[in-house]
This record gives sequence, structure tokens and C-alpha cells, in this order.
Amino acid sequence: MPGTKRALFIDWGGTLALTKNNRTVVDAAGHPVLMPNVVATLARERPRFDACFIVSNQARVSTGEISETEVLRRFAWANEQLGRPFTDCRLCPHTDADDCDCRKPRPGMFLELARLHDVDLSASTHVGDSEKDRDAAVTAGVGTFVWARDFFGWATGPA
Ligand SMILES: [Zn+2]
Repeated sequence: MPGTKRALFIDWGGTLALTKNNRTVVDAAGHPVLMPNVVATLARERPRFDACFIVSNQARVSTGEISETEVLRRFAWANEQLGRPFTDCRLCPHTDADDCDCRKPRPGMFLELARLHDVDLSASTHVGDSEKDRDAAVTAGVGTFVWARDFFGWATGPA
């Protein structure tokens, strides 16, 4: 039975947070550097949705390059910076070799969040910057996929 809430699912690296060589860029204090227009865009768009989630592939957890605790600390920091828009978050710590159900383009993170939070996936939106994001949204049955550059208006000149 489908849920009732309209949700905004947002990718992390390259969408909410600046990345370089597939790693989140952090400032001198160790905090992630947010992408341009993220603060203003989320402030405007978040009220249109009943729930909002981060869904992020974090294969470097499996390879030992970063701890899951540190990834979650960065998500929590962003949540505070942005005025607590996020209802929940999911990360996939696996690599392709693990053959898990959660690593995008597979839909596991979306399906689990939808089940837990009574989400109507067909009425929901995913914002991402990669084909894996888009394909995961399609497979999960998320009704709308929006490229991060369009959602945040980078095409018209990022800061
Ligand atoms: Zn996984």
C-alpha cells in the first residue's frame, strides 16, 4: 500500500556538498563545503514537501577511507546549517563488488525510507548529479528526477 507523504530525496556529493576527486571538500574546521544556492533553494523548496532525505553512496566507508560516524556528522552539520530540513538520511557504505541493494543505481535506500516514513514515491522528487542517481530514482518509482544544476540554478551562473 503506497504512502501518503510527498518527499524530496537529495543526493550528497556533487549535489548538496562540493566534491573533488569523489571526496567531500571540507573547510579548515573540517566542515563540508556546501554547493552554491543550496541554502536559498532548500529554504524555498523544502516547504513544498512533507519530508526530505539525504540518500548517498559512500563507498569510501567500505574501503576504510572515512568512518560512517564522520559521514553522519557531516550530514548532521549540514542539517543544522540549513535549518534542519532533513527528516532522515541513508548512506550506502558498500562498493559495487558488495552487490548490495542500497548502492545507487539500486533503489534500496529510497524503498526503505518510503516504508519507514509513509512516502508516496510516485509523488516524490529526487535531486542528483549523476546517472546513478537518476537511474535509482526511476527504479524506485520516484515520480520526478531533477538534475542538481537545474534544481539549484547553477546553469545560470553559480557563485
Ligand atoms: Zn549498499
